[in-house]
Amino acid sequence: MRQRLVAGNWKMHGTRLTVTTLLKELDASAAVISVASEVVICPACIHIPLAEHILRNSSIKVGAQNAYHEPQGAFTGEVAASMLAEHSVRYVIVGHSERRHVFGEKDATVSAKFVAVQSQGMIPILCLGETLKQREGGVTRDVVLQQLDAVMDRAGIESFKEAVIAYEPVWAIGTGNTATPDQAQEVHGLIREHIAQADSKISAGVRIIYGGSVNTGNAASLFGQPDIDGGLVGGASLKAQEFISICSVEE
Ligand code: PEP
Repeated sequence: MRQRLVAGNWKMHGTRLTVTTLLKELDASAAVISVASEVVICPACIHIPLAEHILRNSSIKVGAQNAYHEPQGAFTGEVAASMLAEHSVRYVIVGHSERRHVFGEKDATVSAKFVAVQSQGMIPILCLGETLKQREGGVTRDVVLQQLDAVMDRAGIESFKEAVIAYEPVWAIGTGNTATPDQAQEVHGLIREHIAQADSKISAGVRIIYGGSVNTGNAASLFGQPDIDGGLVGGASLKAQEFISICSVEE
């Protein structure tokens, strides 16, 4: 039985004040939302110590949106995985489409980050997903499995015992155009099947969450699919009541 995971990606949003208010509101409902889902919030890096402090006794876990793969050195502006691990960070998003498309991260970098995160005892949330052009070109399967294979080849199949995969079609992120439950399930099924070819036990246990305009109206039907184990939520995770509802949905 895979425990549902709902992770909030707060991207580059929030001030000390708004982040404090949001964290306190979520924490006040932690006991309720954690019944249905394991809940993680990923604030901007500079707000992680604040989140760590406010959630110190909470079931809500702290995640990060990115980590650099080198352990230290002359990498101005970057944050090492080891630095995040010092702040009770449990999960780290790697390969988010904004990292791939806005900052030009390639599969090799994403794979190196995945390994670096695990080497510090944290769990990577590996994002995979096709653009609209790729979907319309009929290459969704190839794109997603190539992104997955890059990490499997580098990190090995065993590494997926301690990893989460997020299928996030790029055309659905921040656009309001959610994949239908059938569209999402089809790709989640492909991903699970592909991992099963390497190891069926690991495939059955790995959580594959969906991201792309998840909201209170569509969460239940998405999370009700057999291979969808929760969500990576952007915009809706910045609104406490909406995020609480998403985390609490019954299948
Ligand atoms: C995301 O940032 O990973 C995301 C899925 O965003 P949104 O929910 O806003 O589409």
